[in-house]
Amino acid sequence: MANNLLFIANWKMNMVYADLISYFNIFLPLFKQTKPINDVVFLPPSTLLFSIKVILEGTDIKWGAQNIYFENQGAFTGEISALMIKDTGSTYVLIGHSERRKYFKESSPIIANKLHKAFSENIIPIVCVGETQEERASGKTFSVLTNQIKPIIKTCQNFINKEIVVAYEPVWAIGTGVNATIEEIKESHSFILSQFLKQSWIDGRNIKIVYGGSVDSKNTPAILSLDVVSGCLVGGASLKPEEFIKIVNTVRS
Ligand code: PEP
Repeated sequence: MANNLLFIANWKMNMVYADLISYFNIFLPLFKQTKPINDVVFLPPSTLLFSIKVILEGTDIKWGAQNIYFENQGAFTGEISALMIKDTGSTYVLIGHSERRKYFKESSPIIANKLHKAFSENIIPIVCVGETQEERASGKTFSVLTNQIKPIIKTCQNFINKEIVVAYEPVWAIGTGVNATIEEIKESHSFILSQFLKQSWIDGRNIKIVYGGSVDSKNTPAILSLDVVSGCLVGGASLKPEEFIKIVNTVRS
């Protein structure tokens, strides 16, 4: 697994242009002052991708989209293509977030198609997996993860030298203030990693597994003490620049 930590800010459907300006008026001076050694990625709503490019170009901070469509162009009202994402200078794209699986009925085959598109267009995918509360309570966590990971690994097989970020996000921990225990995170991350490393053709250096689910500056040190965790996907806490900069400055103990 790669060594440097990765912190991803998922802004979801929050922030307009004025908020973006105010945010980086606070975040950027703090970033320059504290010089984090970790990698940082912002995923704003797609309406702000061009504006974030103007603000972040020339810094060490990367950005990306929260969604992608798997067709190149045409009559797909409301969708955003790989070309459009690349046009905004984006490096990353989020795929299969549980909110997209739940509210927009994104299935594993759709997610695999999106992953295929991201890989073929050289956009680094951040693919989300994770079980619901009911699935965990009924002992199905690993079978759910296996079913979600299988099509992802199958797609990776066509792109063996490409980088991928897998976000383990237990659905019950997203936006709830209840994050998974260190033991649960360790167990799930180790399981996900083992599924990838079982494949003889996989180069572990291309895989990062990040944790998401009610991450804040208080719980990151413990989460990141696990060497199977390569970073964090942060929702709510990434909307506050003073809080997110603290998270980004977490050093693995
Ligand atoms: C997320 O957006 O994927 C997420 C984990 O949100 P939060 O940090 O608010 O739980």
